[in-house]
Amino acid sequence: MNIRDGQKFAWDNKLAKGFNTSDVPLEFCLLQGEMAEAFDAWRKDRDTVGEELADVAIYLFGLAEMTGTDLQAEIEAKIAKNVGRVYSRLPNGVLVKDPVEPQT
Ligand SMILES: [Mg+2]
Repeated sequence: MNIRDGQKFAWDNKLAKGFNTSDVPLEFCLLQGEMAEAFDAWRKDRDTVGEELADVAIYLFGLAEMTGTDLQAEIEAKIAKNVGRVYSRLPNGVLVKDPVEPQT
């Protein structure tokens, strides 16, 4: 399954089940909750880390659909952008993007 198919599946499942499809702030909160569940599973060394990360992706797919975002295209564009970035290391060891483009 590619990202675009996942986004469609997540949206169709939301419609079929009567889940939230219009309250964007709520969806951001629910996504954050799933991220917390994934962290908690990892922190407690549970075998549900993958399932919780899948929940994160599913909520992200739904949020992308709610906001009119083609997540497949956005991720491909962002990866291409990231590959082309150049970083410099500050004296304290922190990596920073070279200042040839605005922060995104
Ligand atoms: Mg979960």
